[in-house]
Amino acid sequence: MAQEDVFKKIVSHCKEYGFVFPSSEIYDGLGAVYDYAQNGVELKNNIKQYWWQSMVLLHDNIVGIDSAIFMHPTVWKASGHVDAFNDPLIDNRDSKKRYRADVLIEDAIAKYEEKIAKEVAKAQKKFGDSFDEAQFRATNARVLENQQKRDALHERFAAAMNASDLDELKQIILDEEIVCPISGTRNWTDVRQFNLMFKTEVGSTAEGSSTIYLRPETAQGIFVNYLNVQKTGRMKVPFGIAQIGKAFRNEIVARQFIFRMREFEQMEMQFFVKPGTELEWFEQWKNTRMAWHQALGFGAENYRFHDHEKLAHYANAASDVEFRMPFGFKEVEGIHSRTNFDLSQHAQYSGKKIEYFDPELNERYTPYVIETSIGVDRMFLSVMCHSYQEEALENGETRVVLKLPAALAPTKLAVMPLVKKDGLPEKAREIIDELKFHFNCKYDEKDSIGKRYRRQDAVGTPFCVTVDHDTLTDGCVTLRDRDTMEQTRVKISDLRSLIEDKVSITSLLKKIK
Ligand code: ATP
Repeated sequence: MAQEDVFKKIVSHCKEYGFVFPSSEIYDGLGAVYDYAQNGVELKNNIKQYWWQSMVLLHDNIVGIDSAIFMHPTVWKASGHVDAFNDPLIDNRDSKKRYRADVLIEDAIAKYEEKIAKEVAKAQKKFGDSFDEAQFRATNARVLENQQKRDALHERFAAAMNASDLDELKQIILDEEIVCPISGTRNWTDVRQFNLMFKTEVGSTAEGSSTIYLRPETAQGIFVNYLNVQKTGRMKVPFGIAQIGKAFRNEIVARQFIFRMREFEQMEMQFFVKPGTELEWFEQWKNTRMAWHQALGFGAENYRFHDHEKLAHYANAASDVEFRMPFGFKEVEGIHSRTNFDLSQHAQYSGKKIEYFDPELNERYTPYVIETSIGVDRMFLSVMCHSYQEEALENGETRVVLKLPAALAPTKLAVMPLVKKDGLPEKAREIIDELKFHFNCKYDEKDSIGKRYRRQDAVGTPFCVTVDHDTLTDGCVTLRDRDTMEQTRVKISDLRSLIEDKVSITSLLKKIK
């Protein structure tokens, strides 16, 4: 199946099975805004819990906060967002559609890469085991030509972005003969800068209102609380502050479902270190964060680091964790070495001294910062994309199963009476009443057992138990495993110990190496 079709299926699965709904759907929705439904909210909460615990529980030098979405407007002046949080946009005059100029060019770069990958795959098929990929890449004329075009374009693009040269971005689009996917024409406007922050008013206009912003990242809430947390928590450098919360960006192009939203959620951690040690910490946090991702068991080959060539002016290293989505490797998390830029800026704009007194060195300094910043929604999407599977069964049928990591699954155990009579529903409820304190259980009595299994597979429930007539006398139930579909007869009294460990967030945390 084409990857595009797979993605469409995942999007409709999210809606049909109560994971994600378009916002205000009865009014035809609102662009790039989504609501999490009954199953989605559980999965999302589990992802957040996994992240939070990996930061705050596993590190005794990391604490959490929950700062407000509204902040003093000068925060965004100091952070540089008012002046520089822009995307270059371009319109196609025929389709009247708006695009990000940088994304159009990045797509053109990706097309060269796809061409190369296709040549390599073709040759690999032809030569089989004897295929030497490195030699092929170094000698094949078509590969070399595309590689050279890709590199030249990439270099020109990076230079234009670094210089914020909007005319050059437009010229690249013209020279590369990039067409609008809707109209198919090259009738482009000039490229303009567009600030991504949403504005609103605080206070009534009669008393004089002022413009404030919806935060475009949660990080600034951490920076402005650095002193408060350091002092009240008696924190010693190196230490970190973690936060999960909503962020808002007026994205020009809303694409790819919950990958790019206008209201989304971030999980960010700012780690304050001694100047000069930041690059060591940067490497360490890259490893720690990759281990967090890989503990989910989605396969190391589906992740890669992408080091930034274009660094923000305040950063001295930056790398993204990319995950293989159906539409290619995409950023889910950014790890940035932000120097002391933010704390220094806030010190300058607020007039407050924002420093750390290092008792061991007997000196004061402004700490440097390593940031790890991951989008909850992108993480959610990567979990969905990897878990959604259509499996051919021996009887010729296909089952749709969400092979979610058990610790993230919305429901851990579905309890089903074989029939709706003879005391079986009561027995099933009794089991739930016992286990519901330990993990999320659901009762399900409608339709045949086969259909009920399929329904639970589709929402990723790792375990089902069936209560039958024998249960009433032998105290045993049939436990079915979602992935293997194996069924075993087990004692009701053993259920908790059989399941609890496998579905707990702790089981995931223990896998982080
Ligand atoms: P992109 O280049 O895709 O716009 P970014 O580099 O601007 O992302 P950051 O500012 O580093 O993103 O934000 C950190 C994380 O927040 C990203 O890795 C991503 O997971 C998430 N994120 C950023 N923008 C959005 C958005 N519009 N919708 C959903 N998640 C987002």
